[in-house]
Amino acid sequence: MGRARLLTLLAAVTCCTASYATDWSALERYQQTISRAEFEGLLAGVYCPSAALTNYLTFGTNSVTVFSSPERTDALFTLRFSSAASSPISHSPWSLKRIALDPGHIGGEWARMEERFFQRGKDRPVQEAVLTLTAARLLKARLEAAGAEVFLTKDNFQPVTDKRPEDFRAQAEQETPLIRFDTFPPLDREAARADAVRKRAEILFYRSSEIAARAKLLNEEIKPDLTICLHVNAVEWDECQSLVDDNRLVVFVHGDYLASELKDDDQKLRLFSKLLDRSHPVEQAVAEAVATAMASATKLPPVEYGPAGGAIHVGDNPYVFARNLAANRLVNGPVVFLEPYYMNNRVVYERIQLGDYEGTRDVNGTPMKSIFREYADSVADGLEKLIVPRGKP
Ligand SMILES: [Zn+2]
Repeated sequence: MGRARLLTLLAAVTCCTASYATDWSALERYQQTISRAEFEGLLAGVYCPSAALTNYLTFGTNSVTVFSSPERTDALFTLRFSSAASSPISHSPWSLKRIALDPGHIGGEWARMEERFFQRGKDRPVQEAVLTLTAARLLKARLEAAGAEVFLTKDNFQPVTDKRPEDFRAQAEQETPLIRFDTFPPLDREAARADAVRKRAEILFYRSSEIAARAKLLNEEIKPDLTICLHVNAVEWDECQSLVDDNRLVVFVHGDYLASELKDDDQKLRLFSKLLDRSHPVEQAVAEAVATAMASATKLPPVEYGPAGGAIHVGDNPYVFARNLAANRLVNGPVVFLEPYYMNNRVVYERIQLGDYEGTRDVNGTPMKSIFREYADSVADGLEKLIVPRGKP
């Protein structure tokens, strides 16, 4: 997108502050469960199309060793391949009985801090967390009616993490070097740094810590067959906060690790873990089914990413991209991340102002469903045929 930087960029956390239950030894159970051809296919097609990971890999006769640095003196893990051309695990049937819905952002008193809040004049304020929670509640009811067991990571406007910005004060101080403000006069430097430290501590709270806490809840308690992250997109405002005509849809699966991200051993571990647990075939099938249903209901065109966009197109569906987001990296198993609509598109904005309602209402002369029901119903329409009803094996 030429003029607009999508707000999803904010979700692309590159450093993870929490420690995760898995370490490399947890991957031992995947020994001889994947052929070299399948491993290389998933790496090149989904997880690392840039081939940046190959700088850290050495292939043996029937194994691959991953190293911490490109010098390859510090081995982290060796995976032995299966001899079969294709291993049984990649063809094992999957079911979607337990579905977790993750409504994006905290909202409420935190919405302005998260920069997921705007208000025009005396209109109803727009908080992304209100939109995603409204859609998640409607979607939960639809999926339960279709026979799934559905869990929400949150059902209010409080953080899932028990940390708060002040808990990250010392870390923020450390991560905000004074040198950044060297060109400022001394008093300005002091003021600018204080503001930057505050912002950094807030980001460590509402982004890193909150996403890690939700991942922990999903991985250790909910343990779903599938996680759906619900978001609503936006484009950057111009100086006058004018509403825009552009309006698009994108659906993310996990993948496309960048060279800068792969310097981090935690990211290498997550790449291996996601590749070996075979999340991808499920993510791709769900993403394509949901994208097709959402595109048909919303008539939105796909988001387009340039070569440096941090997302890469995977498969034949024009709406489905692979992207390495903290929200789909830290959560085990298949995760599909939805980002329909631009909140600051003029029609979307008008529909948000109308709130949720049954039936249709007039929007600029066109009868339209509540935008929340259009969101939830289209996701449910896409998912329904993939759901195995409760009680059935
Ligand atoms: Zn969002």
